[in-house]
Amino acid sequence: MPTYEYQCVKCKKRHDVFQSITAKPLSRCPACKGPMKRLLGSGSGFLFKGGGFYTTDYRSKSYHDAKKKDQPAKPSGDQKAS
Ligand SMILES: [Zn+2]
Repeated sequence: MPTYEYQCVKCKKRHDVFQSITAKPLSRCPACKGPMKRLLGSGSGFLFKGGGFYTTDYRSKSYHDAKKKDQPAKPSGDQKAS
């Protein structure tokens, strides 16, 4: 689930909100009920958190690739090893 960053226009407070992609965006600041804007694109925070999926995916994949290369002569080292 991605984390969306909102900033309240009124009190400038930032809120990190876990939402599914299909969820409605927050429009009201929970603190002061002021209007909120979603920080997208501009924030490296979103990229960092939102990219987590891809990063993890990519890393584990290359990690496994490297592992395979490391031990080419071991077809079964799956669950029993540790
Ligand atoms: Zn506010």
